[in-house]
Amino acid sequence: MLVSHTTSINLSLFYMHHFLDTPSLKQWFSREKRELPWRQFPTPYQVWISEVMLQQTQAAVVIPYFEKWMEQFPSIESLAEAALDQVIKAWEGLGYYSRARNLHAGARYIVQHLGGRLPQDPEELSKIKGLGPYTIGAIRSFAFHHKAAAVDANVIRVLCRYFLLEEDIAKPKTVQHIRQIAETILPEEEPWVVAEALIELGATVCTRNPQCRRCPLRASCAALLHGKADKLPYKSRKITIQALFRGVAIVHSAGHLLVKRGVQGSIMSDLHEFPYLEGEQQQIADPAACGELLSRHIEDELGLRVEFDQVLPAEAQAFTRYRVTLQPSLYTCYAMPPVEGCQWLSIAALQQLAFSSGHRRIFQSIVGILAKGARPCV
Ligand code: SF4
Repeated sequence: MLVSHTTSINLSLFYMHHFLDTPSLKQWFSREKRELPWRQFPTPYQVWISEVMLQQTQAAVVIPYFEKWMEQFPSIESLAEAALDQVIKAWEGLGYYSRARNLHAGARYIVQHLGGRLPQDPEELSKIKGLGPYTIGAIRSFAFHHKAAAVDANVIRVLCRYFLLEEDIAKPKTVQHIRQIAETILPEEEPWVVAEALIELGATVCTRNPQCRRCPLRASCAALLHGKADKLPYKSRKITIQALFRGVAIVHSAGHLLVKRGVQGSIMSDLHEFPYLEGEQQQIADPAACGELLSRHIEDELGLRVEFDQVLPAEAQAFTRYRVTLQPSLYTCYAMPPVEGCQWLSIAALQQLAFSSGHRRIFQSIVGILAKGARPCV
């Protein structure tokens, strides 16, 4: 059976005839579900943090971040009291840093306006910064056991295949449809188990390359029946990846490094980076040409007199739709004059602050080089 924009099927009628096989799904989930730290004591706070961490990130990557986070910020109050820099540092490496900023702002809002507790009401939840339909559904379902669907990319994939939905999932209207379907198919009994089982199935079995042979829904899956399991879901818009090439100036002076902090509202807001310049691939890939560009940049733009030290290995960095090649070079400066938009910070101070991913790896290698005394700090 096929559902599309052009097919005017009454959805409620359709789903009455093609229910989700919840008994098989629940049995499979109780047998196969992964032991994940946030599943042990799913308090509203733990559900909130884990679900935000899991957006765009795999569970295996999230586990150590979640455990460390719960040690550092065990409650909404402790998160609200923390400095933003501590929160960003705890998030360092997870990417999409607006999520960390929103958690911090959300915790402060909850403490100031909601008595320190996450509310159960969806409207109240939607007033908390960063909480969208998915996270609200997850909190209501997993923490409060409401009959609420939590529709993430995993659930979209499973439902598109199971019900053979061929609508374009790049369109908000389609996602809205799928959300309605997800609400409709949840059973009255233990709806939260089914909601979580759908996510688990999408994350572990009904993945990009579906493993239908070990799927508990294979007997009733419409996409499998029609040979379309690996062709769905359909998404029209593909993200175009843009390559960027940057020469990075690592200027050190007396155990300090020159860094800049991402300005508020920018993609690197609150993250630290070394000064850099953008160039063409052939300029940046050639260490000599890149070194020349950087030396000019340091003198003309940063107003510093420096001595070239060494070229460092290139690093790759990826964020949103960009893939960046970073070519760093190390320089020594024999003074620490003020530089507009930058700060001189000690290695110890920088170790407490968050860097964007590629610059963090460069920082770690610099710490190693300076510790070995490759060139004495003056
Ligand atoms: S049978 Fe295959 S396509 Fe259908 S839900 Fe299971 S894994 Fe996905």
